[in-house]
Amino acid sequence: METNKPNSGNNQNQGQKTPENSSKPQRTRRPNPHRQNNTQNRPKQEGERRENPNRKPQQNRKPNPNRQGGNQNAQRSEGQGNNQNRKPNPNQKNNNRKPNNQNRNGGGNKGRGKKRQNVTTVNEAMRASIEENKRVQEARMAPWKQMDLNSKGKIRFTPLGGLGEIGGNMAVLETESTAIIIDVGMSFPDETMHGVDILVPDFSYLHAIKDKIKAIVITHGHEDHIGAMPYLFKELKFPVYGTPLALAMIENKFNEHGLKADAKYFNFVTKRKQYTIGDMKVEWIHNTHSIIDACSLAIETPAGILMHTADFKIDHTPVDGYTMDLRRYAYYGERGVLCLFSDSTNSHNPGFTKSETVVGKTFDTLFEMAKGRVIMSTFSSNVHRIFQAMERGVKHGRKICVIGRSMERNVETNRALGFVDIDDRHFIEVHEVPKYADHEILIVTTGSQGETMAALNRMATDEHRHIKLKPSDTVIISASAIPGNEASVSKLMNLLIKAGVTVRYKEFSDIHVSGHAGQEEQKLILRLVQPKFFLPVHGEYNHIAKHAQTAVSCGVDERNILLMSDGDQVEITPKYLKKVKTVKTGKTYIDNQNNMTIENDVVLDRQKLAEDGIVTIVAQIAQSNGKIVGKPIVYTHGLVPDKEDKKFAKEIEVLLETMLLNMKGEGLKDHTHIENEIRNAVRKHVIRTKKRYPLIIPTVFIV
Ligand SMILES: [Zn+2]
Repeated sequence: METNKPNSGNNQNQGQKTPENSSKPQRTRRPNPHRQNNTQNRPKQEGERRENPNRKPQQNRKPNPNRQGGNQNAQRSEGQGNNQNRKPNPNQKNNNRKPNNQNRNGGGNKGRGKKRQNVTTVNEAMRASIEENKRVQEARMAPWKQMDLNSKGKIRFTPLGGLGEIGGNMAVLETESTAIIIDVGMSFPDETMHGVDILVPDFSYLHAIKDKIKAIVITHGHEDHIGAMPYLFKELKFPVYGTPLALAMIENKFNEHGLKADAKYFNFVTKRKQYTIGDMKVEWIHNTHSIIDACSLAIETPAGILMHTADFKIDHTPVDGYTMDLRRYAYYGERGVLCLFSDSTNSHNPGFTKSETVVGKTFDTLFEMAKGRVIMSTFSSNVHRIFQAMERGVKHGRKICVIGRSMERNVETNRALGFVDIDDRHFIEVHEVPKYADHEILIVTTGSQGETMAALNRMATDEHRHIKLKPSDTVIISASAIPGNEASVSKLMNLLIKAGVTVRYKEFSDIHVSGHAGQEEQKLILRLVQPKFFLPVHGEYNHIAKHAQTAVSCGVDERNILLMSDGDQVEITPKYLKKVKTVKTGKTYIDNQNNMTIENDVVLDRQKLAEDGIVTIVAQIAQSNGKIVGKPIVYTHGLVPDKEDKKFAKEIEVLLETMLLNMKGEGLKDHTHIENEIRNAVRKHVIRTKKRYPLIIPTVFIV
């Protein structure tokens, strides 16, 4: 019995076989070293061959049949092609298995040769069963082959943001008659975009196809999925479908932008229910992520079923108990999925992303250790994180004070929707903080990314009106720096440590966990869905390329994967996936102070000013003789130091005189012409002497 039991442990299998092969010395050899010897000394024996095929080669081999299946997709459905390809494998396995059975059955009494003769009778029924099992396995491993490969259905997918970048997610899915927009997110500028606060995707393509756009489909309420909604609604309005929290967060934005009335476009969806939008049917599938009420999508189209994970991780122990609805993934996977779109953000991370609940355990430790006030900062949208901190605060007899506009608004919204169940009596206003002892205070605040305007930064720089930091304070930063924010987070740390508080950050590894899936979670989704085509989304090129590798390792034909960039339009049919064209994409710059657009040329001028400075020249020119009247006025900023101003002005004066000497007649009457000539001459001079390209502004008066 015992020897038959272990179905997984390979060591044990080896252990079993040894005694049979050399029955008597068995006992003396049993200890560990023996096992190792087995593998080394008897490479040709069955036990080992059996072990290997069962493990790795099986995985390695699978992609091959799949590749060919995918390749010949149209003509060769389930049947023969694959079987032919695979034949060698099962045969090998059979060969290998026989001795196995033998071992088990024989019980070690007789020599191997005899046993093989006794047990290897493969009769017709057994052979048929083997064939039938093989057929079932083949079908199971490529469920998409059930699709009608002759269907004329076609779908086009166009990412307008979120590919080749992190954030700014927006994509369009369209058939002949219907288009839906999936998410309308914003992203953040880089350091060359002076005075720009946020970036919004270019909506040109949406204008071009606006007549067939039937809906905006929202997956979840993160800024990089809904942040551009008010900007879109100022140009174009469509029905919006999403879960209550995501739509509530959009409503907050609409209210800020004077679009209160546009809440009438909202359609609140119920998970696990299909919504017919044009000729598509969309189902929202609950997933786990760093925001509540996040969803993946299953979309039935005339071309076949599409699945879009949106942002996700697979948290088996989420704070609210609602796990990712993997059964819906399995359901659609079983029916056959044409194309899977999946989140690539963490595709370089091996293993699983940890559950959100581990952070709660870290909070337990940190709250135990804290003597004075606790100030916790995280992303204002990560309400489960905030909730976990609040729960600990309540448990330790602390009052909760929420500080920071976005944090206050999100906590309020989530409490109103019933996602944060903490009684009113535990909350206090910021001006009430001094009424309580330090160990009775928990402050939950914004600023974990070192944002200069956020409350935590203002506390750290002693600019906050109500909260002055004390050495007894514990500041918990429950976040990691988003790429690009490392410097500002480091600056914040410096300020906090200088202020003398205890800072809890990365030294506790579970003080923060990601909201995105690692490789093992990505694999689980790939295996549940086992799609024909795969489009890795949400990430820079290196992220989607890595995700593509993971997909190949999970049996997706590499020719059925495309690495896309924003603006690429792909056509997907049951027979093929191919790029058909490129549409206009780009970013609109937004100034958050006034919620207004900043035109591209303004940002370009700012870049030029920041990098190369400016030269202004004002000159009067006598029309009579073409000479400069008086001295030209020359100002520079960001080009020459003050002490060299005069010298530079003299150079320009000489330059202008020479230039004017060479200009004759009509040219001297046209001041635009003279200004252009001055600009060219000064540009050449500055490039030659300073190797810079400043903005040059000549103003000429002809007198
Ligand atoms: Zn997200």
